[in-house]
Amino acid sequence: MVRLKYIFIGFVIKLLISNISSQSLPFEKCGQHLSDFEENRILNWGYGYNDLLGDLVVWSQSPYVTIDSIGSSVQNRAIWELTISDNPSSTIYKRIYIHARTHPGEEESFWVANEIINFLLSDSPEANAIRSQCIFHIVPMHNPDGVELGYSRENANGIDIESGWDDSVIQPEVSALQNRFIDLSFVIPNPIEVALNMHSAYACKRYFVYHHETGTSDNFTLMEKNFISGIQAYYPGGFEDWNYFISWSNGTPDQYPESWWWLNYGENVMALTYEDMNCSEAGNYDLTADAIVKGVCDYIGVNLSNIKNDDLLPNGYKLYQNYPNPFNPTTLINFDIPEDSFVKVSVLDIKGREVSVILEGEQTAGSQSITWEAVDNYDNNLPSGVYLCLMKVNDYMSTKKMILLR
Ligand SMILES: [Zn+2]
Repeated sequence: MVRLKYIFIGFVIKLLISNISSQSLPFEKCGQHLSDFEENRILNWGYGYNDLLGDLVVWSQSPYVTIDSIGSSVQNRAIWELTISDNPSSTIYKRIYIHARTHPGEEESFWVANEIINFLLSDSPEANAIRSQCIFHIVPMHNPDGVELGYSRENANGIDIESGWDDSVIQPEVSALQNRFIDLSFVIPNPIEVALNMHSAYACKRYFVYHHETGTSDNFTLMEKNFISGIQAYYPGGFEDWNYFISWSNGTPDQYPESWWWLNYGENVMALTYEDMNCSEAGNYDLTADAIVKGVCDYIGVNLSNIKNDDLLPNGYKLYQNYPNPFNPTTLINFDIPEDSFVKVSVLDIKGREVSVILEGEQTAGSQSITWEAVDNYDNNLPSGVYLCLMKVNDYMSTKKMILLR
């Protein structure tokens, strides 16, 4: 009798758990609170398919991007992919694949991908260096039907396309991505080395879903720790430690994109899910994107710290727009000088008063990058506001508007 009672309680608990997880509440690695659904889904969670089509037009102006459809959704919407590189057909460039918004209600994953795209298409010396050594493939909206239908996780067939990667009948969105992964990994000299699957979670933290050695290998977990910690180092306090969310401790599941990668390509591909914050505290997508791109570059051996030693000297003086902007409180200021020169870079407030001298002295020719922490010459924090970055070299003078938002 006692045993029966426990079995019954177990049964009720199991029912409760299956009911809860079908509503995407705890026990799932990502998702949002039910209370957020209604108001957000009406707005396609703030970014719909037409918004994407508009942005594709803008992005397509860049000489460094090609935009193509990798397939169609159930309702025949194109699934768009951006390829960013200065030589997309290179057979030696490093290849990275990023797809976002498999779960429509996790729009933060798009905002991070959006900043990754903006970073990679920017004029900064770092972006330039990345484009000349890498090919980035980015799918900003993997599940356009779900976005338009206001589903939180499913496609137009009502199926969660984050799983089902091993099903006998594969959903068209899954098939489009799988075929693309195969095309870019199988029998080509420079296969995909990093594959990121972008989501966001109500846990309200930024983290990577780490795979335990039981489901992978000892060697792979070392690579995972290295990868995650490397990204984290570029945005201290922004990301959780590698062990914040450990999955696969009971073995390799078979239904997810990362399962597919592991089962087919093993240690050759660093395939991970990234979870941004799905809560009102979400933000700093630019810092997040910057850290992810730089961490990925370090991991695959693309060196960005040697940019200033590049043999190719710039052919003119140039001050670039600071990045990120707006910023809080750290921002990067990049500039070019074609020959060794005396350079002054300073910051003026809105009334034209000099509030900070960031750099003043003889500099060697090349592209340079300096970090500014939004402090004055006495190391006092400057208040939020609009500032001007002023660069002077001989007769050359250039300014850029910078916005500090504390
Ligand atoms: Zn998700």
